[in-house]
Amino acid sequence: MDEKIACPKCGSSDKLFLISTIQKIGTAVGGGVGSIAGYLGRGSGICTGAIIGARIGSIVPGVGTVAGIAVGGLAGALAGFFTGAAIGNYVGKYIDKNVICKYKCNNCGTTFSR
Ligand SMILES: [Zn+2]
Repeated sequence: MDEKIACPKCGSSDKLFLISTIQKIGTAVGGGVGSIAGYLGRGSGICTGAIIGARIGSIVPGVGTVAGIAVGGLAGALAGFFTGAAIGNYVGKYIDKNVICKYKCNNCGTTFSR
């Protein structure tokens, strides 16, 4: 907790938790968008994994190239997922903390907005 916020019912300030609704949504949405972006971008810049994968795979011609592209594309999607999820999590946390500001008191169970 950065700021001192007290529960309106019992006055406790050390058992308060930020209810992170948007943070969870942000993580899921960000992860989804990121994985799509990563997958779509696998042929360009950010996802050179596909190209590298295809080159390594090309040592075994034909099947290897296809498998290499598939693996590279998957790696790109995964990288995109983690990047997107991290951004979504950060944005969601910011919204939760600065826009919604809903807290739950673990001392008495009260839920309140700041
Ligand atoms: Zn309380």
